[in-house]
Amino acid sequence: MGWRSGLLRHVAWFVVATQVLFPKQGQALTQTVERRLVRGRTPLPKPIIAYPANVACPACGGVVEDWHIEWTDPAHGPDLYKGLRCIDCPLCRGWVLYQGQKVQTVPPGDNPQQTRRLPLQAARWAKSQSRQGKLRHYIDQSAPGRQYRDHFTDKEIQDADADAQADPRY
Ligand SMILES: [Zn+2]
Repeated sequence: MGWRSGLLRHVAWFVVATQVLFPKQGQALTQTVERRLVRGRTPLPKPIIAYPANVACPACGGVVEDWHIEWTDPAHGPDLYKGLRCIDCPLCRGWVLYQGQKVQTVPPGDNPQQTRRLPLQAARWAKSQSRQGKLRHYIDQSAPGRQYRDHFTDKEIQDADADAQADPRY
């Protein structure tokens, strides 16, 4: 961070000074520098490719409407998308991972970290992202939600909804 903002400040000063001293050439230079900076910056944020919705689970063949990766600890998200962590199918509870841009069963000999969806994370998601607003209602009332009806206990859902609803951050 430090070296980069320092470098940008130097570049900015250089561009300003050049424009004052050589207005015509300075403008062309500014455009070149801007193009370089924009181009240099674009590859940095890698697009996050989501677990695809409505694909068959490689273990049971059932169509999973939503893998709900966002119900896991957010810190584990990057590893899930890199295939370093696996997650269970809501229908058969078989472990799958995301590799080669598709959902696969865990290859023999591979031992990725098993990642659980958390009731509180799910309730926070339901509050801010679902039409129903509560995990209980999302699971009871929506087609993708119904695939998770055996995922958490009633008590877990009730407690998580209460916590999420009381938390002004979500
Ligand atoms: Zn399955």
